[in-house]
Amino acid sequence: MSRKACVIGAGPNGLAAAIVLAQAGSQVEVFEAEPTPGGAARTLELTQPGFLHDFGSAVHPWVVGSPFFSTLPLEDYGLQWVHSPAPLAHPLDDGTAVTLERDLHDAEAALGSDGKTWRKLMAPFVEGWSEFAPEVLRPVHLLPRCPLLMARLGWHALSSAKSLVRRFGNSRTRALFAGLAAHSFLSLDESLTAAFGLLLGVAAHAVGWPLPRGGSQSISNALCAHLAKLGGRVKTAARVESLSALPHYDVTLCDLTPRQLLRVAGDRLSRSYQHRLENYRYGPGVFKVDYALARPIPWKARECLRAATIHLGGSFEDIAASEEAMRKGKHADRPFVLLAQPSLFDATRAPEGKHTAWAYCHVPNGSRVDMLGKLEDQIERFAPGFRDCVLARRVFSPAQLEEMDANLVGGDIGGGAMNFRQFLFRPTWRQYATSARDIYICSSSTPPGGGVHGMCGYHAARMALSRLSTSLR
Ligand SMILES: Cc1cc2nc3c(=O)[nH]c(=O)nc-3n(C[C@H](O)[C@H](O)[C@H](O)COP(=O)(O)OP(=O)(O)OC[C@H]3O[C@@H](n4cnc5c(N)ncnc54)[C@H](O)[C@@H]3O)c2cc1C
Repeated sequence: MSRKACVIGAGPNGLAAAIVLAQAGSQVEVFEAEPTPGGAARTLELTQPGFLHDFGSAVHPWVVGSPFFSTLPLEDYGLQWVHSPAPLAHPLDDGTAVTLERDLHDAEAALGSDGKTWRKLMAPFVEGWSEFAPEVLRPVHLLPRCPLLMARLGWHALSSAKSLVRRFGNSRTRALFAGLAAHSFLSLDESLTAAFGLLLGVAAHAVGWPLPRGGSQSISNALCAHLAKLGGRVKTAARVESLSALPHYDVTLCDLTPRQLLRVAGDRLSRSYQHRLENYRYGPGVFKVDYALARPIPWKARECLRAATIHLGGSFEDIAASEEAMRKGKHADRPFVLLAQPSLFDATRAPEGKHTAWAYCHVPNGSRVDMLGKLEDQIERFAPGFRDCVLARRVFSPAQLEEMDANLVGGDIGGGAMNFRQFLFRPTWRQYATSARDIYICSSSTPPGGGVHGMCGYHAARMALSRLSTSLR
């Protein structure tokens, strides 16, 4: 008899878990609170009719680089990838921009006197990507399959972006690396920031930073379609308040963060496990704005029109000051802004001749400060006249993000802080398992953490299946 499995939450990790369970022959039902599946990988008309905005994730190296998603026939369900000529551009105050070129040799040439150093830093990981990606996208393991690469990464993990950039002679390269490292939501003098920057750079060279045509919803729709083909079902607008309200399932996987797991399953969990979940730390939040634009953003540096992702913050020192303020619970006057301009490369996102943009900056968790003026000042710094292009905007404070996806606690888009403890043991030393044998957690609050790669769901479902088969023996 096939086993009955339930997944709560249809984000990328919930859908990945559901697919693994369905592939193993389980009857799977997914309960999703929102009317549309996808969690933080949804695309919605957030401003005006005809303008398609990515509510959450926009740029997807981790889908194409995911050891699990890359095995699925997602293209059969309409998923198509669009690569901008350069993955990333980083404008500077002198009116020029430094670009991150996808090809490592092109990057070497573009970075001038630092090119060779950049290539030497990235090349071992890029060349070993097929072995390296499965290792970094799973729980930390004492016996990795590529020990030399992992030792090299571990050495960088102990170090900070501030110390790594000392090897670059040019302030342009230091600024470029600062933008990559700032994705960590850490201060750039903290451990792990060098490794974060390195991983994003390596991913750009190994698989690119592509956009899905039509937006991130195309990824979620393809995952749902594949799940349906395997016999799984997704019920939308079905928020689960308590596991006790659901029928019996042999196993339940929760694409939830610890706070929600406590809410829906607290009475099924041991006191000591509940206590550990209560001590879980959330990370900083984001303040996000979606724009409908009358024309492309008027960048001072033309190179910015070659890249789907733009990092706005200027020099290493400026970005470091922004991230340090956020870590101290403050709001930077000149916040580091991450911006995506998908419609330049994917015409399906906006009516003909019109454009969309997606931008956010880091703020303390749960911040109520209106950052719109400061965020737009940063765009204007590198694209004077930007505000004149805006047809409509939709602002999301951390609380408004959480209203749209309950996993975005206090605006935290990574499922929890990435400090050393939660890097190693996430959300507890049990990782995907809980104190109840039939309940698992599979969201980005488990290893390897945030990003649309589905590997949290994949590993959680594999663990659940292996324990189920042991208990049936
Ligand atoms: C603004 C923003 C920008 C981002 N940019 C990128 C990017 O460019 N690239 C990238 O790779 N990643 C990006 N991310 C991160 C990425 O989207 C997340 O890491 C990823 O979506 C996590 O997947 P998940 O399945 O763990 O959680 P989620 O995607 O958050 O999904 C959780 C799901 O569970 C549902 N749910 C919650 N509670 C319940 C309940 N009680 N009952 C039923 N359902 C429930 C939610 O509605 C949601 O659908 C971004 C995120 C945000 C918010």
